[in-house]
Amino acid sequence: MSVLIKGGRILTAADDYVADVYAEDETITLIGESLDVAADKVIDASGKYVLPGCVDPHTHLDMPFGGTVTIDDVESGQTAAAFGGTTTHVDFVIQPQGATFAQALDEWRAKANGKQVIDMGYHMAVTDLKEGGTLEELAQLPDEGVTSYKLFMAYKGALMVDDETLFRTMEVAAETGALVMVHAENGDVIDVLVKQALEAGHTEPLYHALTRPPEAEGEATNRAIQLARLAGAPLYVVHVTCREAVEPIARARDKGWEVWGETCTQYFFNSLDDIAKPDFEGAKYVYSPPVRDKSNWDVLWNAVRTDTLSAISTDHCAFLWDGQKTLGKDDFSKIPNGAPGLEN
Ligand SMILES: [Zn+2]
Repeated sequence: MSVLIKGGRILTAADDYVADVYAEDETITLIGESLDVAADKVIDASGKYVLPGCVDPHTHLDMPFGGTVTIDDVESGQTAAAFGGTTTHVDFVIQPQGATFAQALDEWRAKANGKQVIDMGYHMAVTDLKEGGTLEELAQLPDEGVTSYKLFMAYKGALMVDDETLFRTMEVAAETGALVMVHAENGDVIDVLVKQALEAGHTEPLYHALTRPPEAEGEATNRAIQLARLAGAPLYVVHVTCREAVEPIARARDKGWEVWGETCTQYFFNSLDDIAKPDFEGAKYVYSPPVRDKSNWDVLWNAVRTDTLSAISTDHCAFLWDGQKTLGKDDFSKIPNGAPGLEN
């Protein structure tokens, strides 16, 4: 099977030009102006962009969260991705409490078996180095094809790790060359603010954002950067949303430290105005870190332009409205955190 894509505007990491693309059996063999070749299928792409497949480095398919499970499994999530032009994604294995990393990886691979539509990889979310996984096992993960360790500095009582676990994982990463990824929010402080808000009778979705302020993200981002520096590990801060987190990343990168930042599509377009919508409508915009004040949109665009933030993901984490988002109808802290985006 051969395909000729004619007259499209081709964008690659390096170039931007109008040309034809010829592919045989899923491999591009020729790119040039006005190609004169016969093809089984000819597509007129004039006036359109022609891009390589996108890579989404941050998704959650078939993942347990807050007493429920994300609604997209590997098949439906990857099908959506393919329709949007994303041909590779990296999902998070979440180590169940008490489970070894091998058990966790087996469980996640079983979820994908026979359901894959596009290419995928895994990050390992380290939640427990006391009862389950060991440092030795963590060190072997790169040999299994998992070259990144993710740690949650938030979600107290669930996924959150203490600084000891964070730092020990960073030390292993410094040895193995794996990348340390952090969800950077101060979970202890957020836990206090959530309790105070609920005690004061604030149950609506807006309080999800108000109890997870930018300072909590900035503090955790800076803490992770300093600890990674101390351990000698490379660091990747996922889903950066605000000035308070962009600034320490910019400082670290200015110094030449091995620090990278990622943001997500939703943080360029959604804000506190969305989560404040009445009649529980704001629950659709409940994810963590939360939507921010609009003034952060420009901060993020500039950070992407200047390569302070180096990656854009979706943090795809989809829940149904009925029966999932509505779990938090009377208590914002029970709304499953996440929104869809993989087709973006
Ligand atoms: Zn995520």
